[in-house]
Amino acid sequence: MRRRLIDNVVPVLVLAGAFTPVARADVHSTPHPPPAELATMEAAQPQASAAKQAAVNAIDRRAADLAGLSDRIWAYAEVALREHRSAAALADYAEQQGFRVRRGVAGMPTAFTATYGEGHPVIGVMGEYDALPGLSQKALAEKVPLEEGAAGHGCGHNLFGAASLGAAIAIKEQITAGKLKGTVVFFGTPAEEDIGGKTYMVRDGLFRDVDAVLAWHPADETQADMTSSQAMVDLAVEFRGKAAHAAYDPWNARSAVDGLELFLHGVNLMREHIRPSSRMHYTIVAGGEVPNVVAEYAKGWLWLRDWKRSEVDDLLARVRKLAEGAALMTGTVATVTVQGGNWEMLVNEPGARLLHANLLWLGPAVYTEQEQAFAKQVQRATGVPEVGMFEGVKPLEGQQAEGGSTDVADVSWVIPTLHVSVATSPEGAPWHAWPVVASGGMSIGHKGMLRAARVMAATMADLYEQPATLAAVQAEFKAKKGDTVYVPYVPDGPPPLPKD
Ligand SMILES: [Zn+2]
Repeated sequence: MRRRLIDNVVPVLVLAGAFTPVARADVHSTPHPPPAELATMEAAQPQASAAKQAAVNAIDRRAADLAGLSDRIWAYAEVALREHRSAAALADYAEQQGFRVRRGVAGMPTAFTATYGEGHPVIGVMGEYDALPGLSQKALAEKVPLEEGAAGHGCGHNLFGAASLGAAIAIKEQITAGKLKGTVVFFGTPAEEDIGGKTYMVRDGLFRDVDAVLAWHPADETQADMTSSQAMVDLAVEFRGKAAHAAYDPWNARSAVDGLELFLHGVNLMREHIRPSSRMHYTIVAGGEVPNVVAEYAKGWLWLRDWKRSEVDDLLARVRKLAEGAALMTGTVATVTVQGGNWEMLVNEPGARLLHANLLWLGPAVYTEQEQAFAKQVQRATGVPEVGMFEGVKPLEGQQAEGGSTDVADVSWVIPTLHVSVATSPEGAPWHAWPVVASGGMSIGHKGMLRAARVMAATMADLYEQPATLAAVQAEFKAKKGDTVYVPYVPDGPPPLPKD
């Protein structure tokens, strides 16, 4: 059970430097969060240091560049491990800004790191840029594909990469100016939607020597994340039998499809005897070619999830037994291959409190009438309440954990990880769907992207300037991790790259 947060503790961790007020005229005009919380936070709000204010200003100065980068990646819409132009756009921009760029790290041509500065603290920030297949969409408030059947940024990763690089550059400028001391690293992390590029980057030690790392994610609401994500494992289950004519000599055959069917039947019976927190979902990838040939090969693809890696491991052990049993019953051979997976997110509470304080310090998002009308039109089109864009900041207390997994969680087990969600898409509208692509390619997405960049830059500045805050972030990480040994869910050898 998480301990209750006491609002007036937050500023102690954040306070530093000289007072430089920020224009926050609209703080009270937003419906989110409840005015009472904002008032409490505002009254006790710390003063911003010159470096922190300058880092935020640096984002605003580069707003057009960052929006341009995001729009290019939005238009490229490259799927996992094929993000060549997207990764190059970010890596080239980082190089132009004076970062030392290492391309093709961890065996993935589209993974890179961009480093600036010397010595500790080393603060990292992660960016993603892969699109999703089949979600091509114009930046319109109705479903209109840009190119029928093509990919689209249905998870807003075009914004993700651009904002995170923006934050890294803002910090770099303060290091150059002598206002901050240490190193900043941008991690270009590909294939979040597929193999989980970060798991390979963790395996290959790329986060070694990093003191803390930040990430954000596009969302339909804004909050410093206090909720975890689901651990999951990705499995291929293959059955191999013997082919024969299905009518002429079926006794010579052993059906791989029979094996797969019995296995999946076992999975479905097992559902009654798993924890309510567990999820098991599958597709059938191969199940024979024609009815008159008994299939000698069949393949299922499964994801097993729970809020704890230990529960996922338990499900995995049981599913392996189902495969063995189905093979025994059908005279086939079963092979279970772990293809990837994620741990659950190790939430860093001091980190979340710091991000939360900075979200409040920066104030709410302000949308134009046209942007709110766009959001409501999307909401109307998708049958959700027409409430427009979420403007404010959700409180830390009472956040609802939502289903889903991310490879950011794997990083969170090796380095203290601070995570924030920022609204880039109409509240309540479907995710991994056209509304996210549409809003991510116009001013609503740009505003969320810049807000994310500002809050991360401000938070990173705090971590450089406040050794006690960084120490609190690291102490909580150590305490929560305890003696758990992190082992990634990745097969041995290089990442499975596309062959063509
Ligand atoms: Zn995503």
